[in-house]
Amino acid sequence: MSDNNSTQPNNIDQIRHDIDDVDTEILRLLAERQAHSLRMAREKARSDTPSRDQVREEDLIADRIADALDHDLDTGLVNRLWREIVNDSVRVQQEMLGEKALGNGATTVAVQGIEGSYSQLAAKQYFEGRGVDVSWVWERTFTDAVSAVREGRAGAAVLPIENTTSGAISEVYDLMLAGDLTIVGDVRFRVRHCLLGIEGASVGDLTRIYGHPQAVAQCSDFLANLDDVDVIYFSDTALSGKKIAAMADPSVGALASEDAARIFGLQVLKTGIANRSQNYTRFVVVAAEPVEVPDGVSAKTSVVMAVGNHPGALMDALGVFRDADINLVMLESRPIPDNPREELFYLDFEGDARSEVVESTLDELRRQVRFLKVLGSYPSRDLRPRPQRRNGGSTSPSGREALLEPASSSKTPKGYRLGSRGHKSNNTVVEVQGARFGGEDLVLIGGPCAVESWDQVMATAKAVADSGASVLRGGCFKPRTSPYSFQGLGFEGLEMLVEAGRTYGLPVVTEVLSPENVEEVAKVADILQIGTRNMQNFSLLSAAGRSHRPVLLKRGMSSSIDELLQAAEYILAEGNQQVILCERGIRTFETSTRNTLDLSAVPVLRGRTHLPVVVDPSHAAGERDLVAPLALAAQAIGAHGVMVEVHNDPENALSDGPQSLHLEQFDSLARALGVPPRRR
Ligand code: PEP
Ligand code: MN
Repeated sequence: MSDNNSTQPNNIDQIRHDIDDVDTEILRLLAERQAHSLRMAREKARSDTPSRDQVREEDLIADRIADALDHDLDTGLVNRLWREIVNDSVRVQQEMLGEKALGNGATTVAVQGIEGSYSQLAAKQYFEGRGVDVSWVWERTFTDAVSAVREGRAGAAVLPIENTTSGAISEVYDLMLAGDLTIVGDVRFRVRHCLLGIEGASVGDLTRIYGHPQAVAQCSDFLANLDDVDVIYFSDTALSGKKIAAMADPSVGALASEDAARIFGLQVLKTGIANRSQNYTRFVVVAAEPVEVPDGVSAKTSVVMAVGNHPGALMDALGVFRDADINLVMLESRPIPDNPREELFYLDFEGDARSEVVESTLDELRRQVRFLKVLGSYPSRDLRPRPQRRNGGSTSPSGREALLEPASSSKTPKGYRLGSRGHKSNNTVVEVQGARFGGEDLVLIGGPCAVESWDQVMATAKAVADSGASVLRGGCFKPRTSPYSFQGLGFEGLEMLVEAGRTYGLPVVTEVLSPENVEEVAKVADILQIGTRNMQNFSLLSAAGRSHRPVLLKRGMSSSIDELLQAAEYILAEGNQQVILCERGIRTFETSTRNTLDLSAVPVLRGRTHLPVVVDPSHAAGERDLVAPLALAAQAIGAHGVMVEVHNDPENALSDGPQSLHLEQFDSLARALGVPPRRR
């Protein structure tokens, strides 16, 4: 048998396979551990034992650290891991202890629809995740589901309230207003619509498709592309599956879930048919009695209010939340039933109505508004952690900040208004999943010039995340000077980039080259980049201005600072106020560097505009050894962020290898910039 290198790829595959098996087993064991935690929570509730025993928690961690030595494992790693595990277990137990109203381990749940309906699937996700066994009450309408709880036939009802594609479900809002039930929880459920048919059916042969109006709205693009097909509204998603199963006609299809296909013996003809791949519905869990939210668990409160009919009435009401530093997470308006000239506002905010702060805020609100009803305070996993402000939330600039932000020049801005300091004096903060461009802390963006392969982007993303960067970059549509250079992987690359970002918890930024692609790229990219070669592509700027995603606009390599601000104005003028400006080097007579980094652009821009300014030292330098000194200089001169190219194998990179940092160099740079590393 040969022992040369030709056997290596197979060995690598085998080892990866073995590692995957171990990881799967770790996950299974974590789930098993969580089930024991939930059993413990029930037992503690039954025997009235306190929910926490910190001595036991510390003993448990100490024992695991001692065991680690026997296995030759790093004790630091085991310490960190088990603290996370124990904290999670405490959280899960406290959350459950706070949900006494949900039946302590078993409850009856009413949903609109039948087995396999999205309401049931969401309710399963909610209750199974909390170790509660459910028996089901099937109801024909949302009103009937609510009545089941009111009449004591069910302990709780689970109702859809809003969808990321089709918006508010008004009927449920109206029910919450009219009824006397309270919201005791919420759950965000990923809806995956499929086209179902009977065995032997095919998409091309369908002439009729049944679907709930919500499902039809959420799949409208797919349905519009089918020829000669009648879409028939049906009252219930899973029922439409049941109906076509009974019809046994290969020319009829239904829009429903994969679970519905399994339940009714149907075939999935096509998946991924929703207009947006990220299609979520938020469901509320309602019960007759409110729940307690234990200490240490995030709470959400839902209220409905009507404000006065005078200018600024809504703003005054919302100002009460701002003044109390309470974060609003949802605002929805609805006409008052039978009184269409007046609006009701539904609000969700962070906090528990039984806490002192929220209680006094609601009191203040009552002084401002014409009507206020609290729909419930409940534990919620649906809240995103708020970024911590480093210096105690003070907004007045420190001495250093004041020096870095020169007073705006008295010159009238040339050809721009919305971007000027005259229009807005305080700094715009563009916030993307915890990264705050324009805030106090430097934002570090890292990633490869171009997405080249799955392995490349995953390896680089992991290193970028570990180093503490908060945004992942990667070009998928590459604007190359030569048509013969690598042009990028397009949408396939974008999928890899987004998946890598999601895996390591990083939002992603990627360049968009043409106006036609803006909408498609904006569906999944967190920030759109417009590159130096496109800074004056006015139709692209306008298209980005119509998007809801922040735009990172790079300075044209031969453009002045005012021209950059005028380009930004195209985006702002279309409506999108989230523009991040980027200095990336300009063309001069100097040939020692790829471009000349115009560092003075940073204070000049900060004087003229409220928009955040980042610096890209990589494209300025063109050479990796110059990147760190330029990045440090950018920080010193007041840049709000730094964007750096980094690659797991720069020597073999398909673009901009010579200026891309090695992973270790990126980590050293992050340390030098004072960016806190992830978990250390
Ligand atoms: C990039 O950042 O991927 C890029 C192409 O940069 P620039 O537009 O500044 O050349
Ligand atoms: Mn590049």
